[in-house]
Amino acid sequence: MMQETQAPWPGRDGTRITGVRAVVTAPEGLPVVVVRVETSEPGLIGWGCATFTQRYAAVAAAVDQHVAPMLIGRHPADIEDITRMVHLSSYWRGGPVLNSALSGVDQALWDIAGKRANMPVYELLGGRVRAAAAVYLHASGANITEAVEDAARILSDGYRHVRIQAGGPGLGTYGAPGTPGAYPGSPNPDGWDVQQYLRDTPKLFAHARDVLGEEPNLLHDVHHRLTVKQAIGLARALEPYRLFFLEDPIPLELYDRLPEVRAAAPMPLAVGEQVASVADAARLVTGGGVDLLRVHVSAIGGLTPARKLTALCELFGVGTAWHAPADVSPIGAAANVALDVSTPAFGIQEGHLWPDPVHDVFPGALMPVNGYLYPSDRPGWGIEPDEREAAKYPPVTHLFERWAVQNRRPDGGIEPA
Ligand code: MG
Repeated sequence: MMQETQAPWPGRDGTRITGVRAVVTAPEGLPVVVVRVETSEPGLIGWGCATFTQRYAAVAAAVDQHVAPMLIGRHPADIEDITRMVHLSSYWRGGPVLNSALSGVDQALWDIAGKRANMPVYELLGGRVRAAAAVYLHASGANITEAVEDAARILSDGYRHVRIQAGGPGLGTYGAPGTPGAYPGSPNPDGWDVQQYLRDTPKLFAHARDVLGEEPNLLHDVHHRLTVKQAIGLARALEPYRLFFLEDPIPLELYDRLPEVRAAAPMPLAVGEQVASVADAARLVTGGGVDLLRVHVSAIGGLTPARKLTALCELFGVGTAWHAPADVSPIGAAANVALDVSTPAFGIQEGHLWPDPVHDVFPGALMPVNGYLYPSDRPGWGIEPDEREAAKYPPVTHLFERWAVQNRRPDGGIEPA
């Protein structure tokens, strides 16, 4: 029996939080975490995304053992106070594990708020400023030719934006396969060579423009693998191909040098998916380090901090480009879209095509239509997970958890990623 937390003031009515627990499921292979918040009102249940793919068990334990007991007995409408209480109550501020747990609660409370109001969450945020959110999908291939063929296929499906990653020697570039054993004389013949990447990437986009023409919006993710000077060199080399954005050019640990990269880069920089502090994300915006802020909404604590960052982006002339699936659940993806359609700061939305098992677990998961994501008009997020389906896909530890092991140089040293 959980001990109730004393509410700091009487609720407007008798509605109370009666249960909070994490659900972990892996219908697409990657473990996603969602949080279920139950209330004293019959049938009034909220769902939020707490997905931190690489540390899902730690997030579930944080929800069940540390966060849930603080919420029982509280009125679900006090979202700001509840999230502030969870954020501050561990004394040490949260990293991505606690913030993901917090996000699950936060988004579940917004879902409940929408259901109580009989409104979709984007209406609670002030309503639409656009009909839908333009999305980009990921094109990849084992080499430049295959990657551009994949991009052409995506564009032929009606998309206007596409991220392109080509593989190559060693472990490829991020998001695309490599060629094992590409450096046979090296201590780690499967390694990834930065100089080869710097030579090949401009060739990739030269070929992409030759084949795809002038019109498509082309994006590329460096995945934090370059030094400041290398990032500037790559950005300049890519100038003729007019990228829509260049993503995460340098490691998180060097973010105070982003303004240098941004000043020298001819294209917009999109940065921030590894940031787990709303204050750090705010400094990216106010410090001139980014053109598009792409935080992982659950990693910074949910919709409540994300909407504050969204307002800051609008006031500072920065765009949004939220990090997205497959390591965000459909609930989290719906939260992204609620923000996208309700802010003038919207830049672009990363998209994903969910396979059938995900739709079985998350009925109502959003899918793009002609390159756009439309929010659900149902109350809350409009997605009610099916726990019996979720139980069919138990999580297993996954290579996805081992970024550093997968990203070594030919000499064996670990590259950031
Ligand atoms: Mg990325």
